[in-house]
Amino acid sequence: MLPIQVDQVRALSQSEGLFDHEIADRMGCHRTTVTRCRLRYGIPHTNLANRRDKIQTCKRCGQQDLIYRKDRILKYCGSCRDTIEDERREKKHLRDGNKSKKHSEGMLLTS
Ligand SMILES: [Zn+2]
Repeated sequence: MLPIQVDQVRALSQSEGLFDHEIADRMGCHRTTVTRCRLRYGIPHTNLANRRDKIQTCKRCGQQDLIYRKDRILKYCGSCRDTIEDERREKKHLRDGNKSKKHSEGMLLTS
């Protein structure tokens, strides 16, 4: 196996938390090739903390995402979080808009 492939096996197994047969699928080789490579180069077994197989369901749109086992489950998916954030900003903007309107009306009365 080429050094670059050994690095790839290490990355997929440790950073992505993939099992040997999944790494083999990605790299287009046989599972035993991956296992042998891991043992030969002292790469530990699948790092499950970095495995994205925890299901997170969005409470707003119901979209399901796979997240890392180590990550905590969030209430909303990424795009809903953005939308909610935008709506909050919009509401705040409207509130601020009303405030300045009243203020300018007051200015008109006094002048
Ligand atoms: Zn969502």
